[in-house]
Amino acid sequence: MTKVKKTEFKTNLPQEGGACYVPASAPATEVQPDNRKPILLPAPPDELPGQGYRKRQLADWLYKQGAREFGEMTNLPRSWRESLAAEWRVSEFAQVQAFPSVDGSVKYLFTLHDGSRTEAVYLPYADRKTVCISSQVGCPAGCVFCATGRMGFGRNLTGPEIIDQILAVARHQNLGPREIRNVVLMGMGEPLLNYENVAWAVRRMLDENALAMSPRRVTLSTVGIPRGIRRMAADDLGVKLALSLHAPDDATRRRIIPTAHSYSVAEILEAVRAYFGRTKRRVTIEYTMLRGINDSEEQAGELARILKGLVAHVNLIPFNPWEGAPVEGSGRKKIQRFAETLEKAGLPVTVRWSRGVDVGAACGQLALKEG
Ligand code: SF4
Repeated sequence: MTKVKKTEFKTNLPQEGGACYVPASAPATEVQPDNRKPILLPAPPDELPGQGYRKRQLADWLYKQGAREFGEMTNLPRSWRESLAAEWRVSEFAQVQAFPSVDGSVKYLFTLHDGSRTEAVYLPYADRKTVCISSQVGCPAGCVFCATGRMGFGRNLTGPEIIDQILAVARHQNLGPREIRNVVLMGMGEPLLNYENVAWAVRRMLDENALAMSPRRVTLSTVGIPRGIRRMAADDLGVKLALSLHAPDDATRRRIIPTAHSYSVAEILEAVRAYFGRTKRRVTIEYTMLRGINDSEEQAGELARILKGLVAHVNLIPFNPWEGAPVEGSGRKKIQRFAETLEKAGLPVTVRWSRGVDVGAACGQLALKEG
């Protein structure tokens, strides 16, 4: 009989004084490779192993009950559970560590089966439960305000690794997977540079045989990859688009996102306009407020000018500081004035104060800004 590997769940209490948590400083984990196939890969229920109604039972255990091991699937014959466990793995993570914040959000650090690590954040609100998930290990974009950007790029996450973040967080929160109704792809990585796997995971989120989410409750945040934005529109993924713009002009933007030289603001906004033209979905513009870099009233006026005619909502994100960050956040008054200038120009604006500061929940894009 094959021994079933167990996913390890650990809860780390917040540090005294609320020290900022940066993944690279977390204790390294020794991981045994797991070469079994991910059971999240076959489409439920038809492609799952098993005969007849057994496929449906297996799908229910995975996507409704949130089982993390075959051993939990008690209405399946023991011998079948054992043969499944020999061939397939349920969890994509060798270890899950949780870092609760005093404000109720919880940051999760996942150790993958190759020893790489990625992260997600659980954000409970009065009327909804949101999970912010990652699409890559590290990130190639290198935004100056982001701790993840400083880590550099590791690798793309697979589809199962993307979707299993939702399942693992739900389980740790004692929720059924379908109780998580809001997902934002704003964690580690640039989703549109891992398009195939992200699109696969999004389709699995929306699939009524899997997580059955509403596309209106899934948001993909990008630093601005025009071909990816156009592809999203052409593929009709149906989810909401958020653009991390952070500056109204190319020179300022390149100071904030060093890799932004590939595409100009004009090219990106053209793709966003095309996206709106095709999908008729309002786009969110994310703008992290950085002191002395992108927070002047002139820049607010310029932002309003370049967004004219676009059906967009601007989210101003106060910078969530982390140790060693080379930039500082704008003050409250400055943010307020910036917002007023945009509002006077007729743009809907929201300021989103970050959550989970004590556990480093924000990597820039992790600052949630849902309406
Ligand atoms: S803010 Fe987002 S896009 Fe920029 S480096 Fe961080 S994870 Fe990457």
